[in-house]
Amino acid sequence: PKPVVAVVGRPNVGKSTFFNKIAGKRISIVEDQPGVTRDRIYTEVEWLNTQFTLIDTGGIEPKSDDVILSQMKRQAQIAIETADVIVFMVDGKEGLTASDQDVANMLRKTNKPVLLVVNKIDAHHFIGNIYDFYQLGLGDPMAISSVNGLGLGDLLDEIVERF
Ligand code: GDP
Ligand code: MG
Repeated sequence: PKPVVAVVGRPNVGKSTFFNKIAGKRISIVEDQPGVTRDRIYTEVEWLNTQFTLIDTGGIEPKSDDVILSQMKRQAQIAIETADVIVFMVDGKEGLTASDQDVANMLRKTNKPVLLVVNKIDAHHFIGNIYDFYQLGLGDPMAISSVNGLGLGDLLDEIVERF
């Protein structure tokens, strides 16, 4: 079977935008408000002659804070159980939040590779926004912009290196 890569992170960080960019089409629903992806969504990806399955774990993202937290924990648990590589996405415009810390605490306990990805770094001069995320204890954060494509090739390289 192909390796599985799961994207986790709190609502609105850009998981579905990233997923659609990699899929090359609009499969996952992107919304300006948190709360609108239908379910876990899968696409097949090929990069450097390596195939894998990419999952947007977004699920039906809820609106109330306590439900968001419990669902994020559930998503992280699904990723820990089913993925070969976990992409943990955070928001470089909004910065580090308490829910990022909660998910990071779960992900630090797995032996599976976790790539910490700071999305919404739309131009190089925002690169300073990534350094706070070292606090998560998940290694070097990688900067990407799912909207304009910055850093996506480097991230795909890092993903397939970990299979
Ligand atoms: P999800 O809830 O994590 O799946 O996030 P979405 O993919 O639905 O995106 C949430 C919002 O962030 C939308 O308004 C997107 O257009 C926006 N967004 C996603 N990626 C980027 C990015 O790289 N840069 C900027 N500026 N906005 C982004
Ligand atoms: Mg989504």
